Amino acid sequence: MIIKPRFRDFICVTAHPDGCKKNVDMQIDYVKKAKIRNEFKRVLIIGASTGYGLSSRIVSTFGWDASTIGVVFEKHGTENRTASSGWYNTAAFEERALEEGHYAKTINGDAFSEEIKEKTIKLIKNDLKKIDLVIYSIASPRRKHPITGQTSISALKPIGESFKNKSVNFHTFEVSDVEIEPANDDEIQQTINVMGGEDLEMWVDELLKAKVLEKGANIISYSYIGPQITYPIYRNGTIGKAKEDIERVSKVINIKLKQIEGSAYISINKALVTQSSSAIPVVPLYISLLDKVLKEKNLNEGSVEQIYRLYSEIASGKTTVDKQGRIRIDDREMREDVQKEITELWDQVTTENVQQITNINIFREDFFKLFGFGYDGIDYEKDAVTNTEILNLV
Ligand code: NAD
Repeated sequence: MIIKPRFRDFICVTAHPDGCKKNVDMQIDYVKKAKIRNEFKRVLIIGASTGYGLSSRIVSTFGWDASTIGVVFEKHGTENRTASSGWYNTAAFEERALEEGHYAKTINGDAFSEEIKEKTIKLIKNDLKKIDLVIYSIASPRRKHPITGQTSISALKPIGESFKNKSVNFHTFEVSDVEIEPANDDEIQQTINVMGGEDLEMWVDELLKAKVLEKGANIISYSYIGPQITYPIYRNGTIGKAKEDIERVSKVINIKLKQIEGSAYISINKALVTQSSSAIPVVPLYISLLDKVLKEKNLNEGSVEQIYRLYSEIASGKTTVDKQGRIRIDDREMREDVQKEITELWDQVTTENVQQITNINIFREDFFKLFGFGYDGIDYEKDAVTNTEILNLV
């Protein structure tokens, strides 16, 4: 099938297997240039198929030579329908990992469910016996509660008062003011139910109960803070409440992990173009400016560079933590000079100059690259195999 991008707003419903493979290969090539010494040889990544989770799996495997189990929630392709990008990423990752002699198995299903937790624990017991590091990197718009069966849907809204600011449509490059009404209490609670820490705590409780965490095991969950410009919609909004909740839960599980001499950490990562961040109003314009300023200062990092740096710091025991004990790899994004330039440009940006003073074109390219489109060296007019299998799917 000849695959073209079919998209609406921040959703692309097709994906290209060869482009997704190229994305995975490029990340592997980056990591392989230097190995990192570490103690973590068996890594469980929950949310392992795109964004930060995929990069964590790649750095674990090709940087640390670790065995990995990845939990993902992706769609298989058929002869006339493409799979999701995370499916193709995982298929490409598994192929390279197995070719190079690494243990890598993938569980595809709802990580929020009891069934997938049980399946994962069974696989650990059978194959790896214990886990040294758990990476929790789920981003989801909804969650079905495993006990009540109720489905919660997350909202991306401010709290208390409406929020008006600039936003850009990254397909038409039109800059306009958006006004977002504040969330009600139910929307806030539902967002916490989806993206807060309850599921993380359930995972850790189950892993501890099954005794599959190695002595000294670590649990790292990813989070985001960001700048003043996005505070009303991000950190002080519904999603920020969920992030506060997961950061609170991380402290709770840190105490629970003392029984195995383990620790729980939050890593605050930088803003990146991912499926999740493209969906948040105001954020694409902010990321377009961030990308420009960081590149001009030679400070830019993609997801694999971020995770490579995180892992290198962990391996050398040199992680920088803030007053709340969170690992900060968003330090370059949050530098005062970087944020000052972004704020100055933010005030000037209009539809007329957005392509000159921001990297909105690159944002759009990066968005399509998430789905495997726009890579050099791939013939997009050629028939592609859409029903690729993931080799080690359990
Ligand atoms: P992403 O959308 O690229 O990846 C999400 C992953 O979660 C995918 O592997 C997907 O398969 C998996 N997933 C979703 N629902 C699932 C379910 N029910 N069961 C199993 N797997 C499921 O997201 P991302 O942007 O890499 O975000 C990952 C984490 O990093 C989030 O906590 C996010 O807040 C954080 N973070 C993101 C950014 C950013 O700018 N993107 C910045 C800092 C921190």
